[in-house]
Amino acid sequence: MPRRCVRCGGEAAVGIDYANVYFCRGCFKEFFEKKVRSTVLKYAMIKPDDRVLVAVSGGKDSSSLLFALRKVFPELKIEAFHINLGIKGYSKESEQKVLRLVDFVKTNLIVFDLEKELGISIEDFKNTVYKGKICSPCGVVKRYLINKVAYEKGFTKVATAHTLDDVVALLFNSYLQGDVDGLVRLKPVLPSTHTKFVAKIKPLWEITDRECLVYTLFCDLPYVSQPCPLGGETTKMRERKELIGELSTKIRGFKHIFLKSHMKRMLPLLEASAKMPSLIECEICRMPSSERICAFCKRMRILNK
Ligand code: SF4
Ligand code: ZN
Repeated sequence: MPRRCVRCGGEAAVGIDYANVYFCRGCFKEFFEKKVRSTVLKYAMIKPDDRVLVAVSGGKDSSSLLFALRKVFPELKIEAFHINLGIKGYSKESEQKVLRLVDFVKTNLIVFDLEKELGISIEDFKNTVYKGKICSPCGVVKRYLINKVAYEKGFTKVATAHTLDDVVALLFNSYLQGDVDGLVRLKPVLPSTHTKFVAKIKPLWEITDRECLVYTLFCDLPYVSQPCPLGGETTKMRERKELIGELSTKIRGFKHIFLKSHMKRMLPLLEASAKMPSLIECEICRMPSSERICAFCKRMRILNK
């Protein structure tokens, strides 16, 4: 007997294991979009007059984020932002997929090409102390540029495609390491705490990686399926996600329960003990930083040595 869609009774195309329900293609798309909408509203992520810059890598998560936001909030001022990292055999394809995506979504795209703008490729970090661990400087460079471009172009919010799986894996890591500041910093909305720090929002906060993949496939969105040759997801992150995946097979809804307990019970207690550094301006680039020289300028110095 084929499974039936819980909403329309038609033949089901996908099962949602944590909720033990099945959907047909059309009803799953509506379910996904409703979740994006309810997350945005629940955490008051967007105001009607906001200008939102959506960071798109070409992967399934950011492709589904851009498409769903456009669909759910058709009046919202949204543009997409992509960084070409200059990774051989990967960045070119990623940019092409993003170009097809924005054409499909009918959104303006801002591309920042590291080689053209800064004369570097993220692969150059291979010749530094980072050697095979490029994800660390890559993350710093991406976070910095997303904020800088959003600030310089007058955007009021930056939307990133962190999923429930990303969030739970990061929380899990921070709990293991007793990283209280890391636990407190990870939120669905990071407000602006400096005139040059643009507020960050995570509309996929309660949506899983798998739901993003299914939505991307059901909506026929262009996306790069191959992982980045410099790391894919970092090994640690991948291992954490696998472990959390195993736990989820034993405890239904583990990721949702873990996140809910953290947000409701732990976060208020942790916030009382964490000391968040106030932001100053980097002496080199004048962008916000918690230290005299910001993390980006430090990485650039390492590259230039
Ligand atoms: Fe950058 Fe690592 Fe992601 Fe590749 S896998 S894009 S190096 S963060
Ligand atoms: Zn700087």
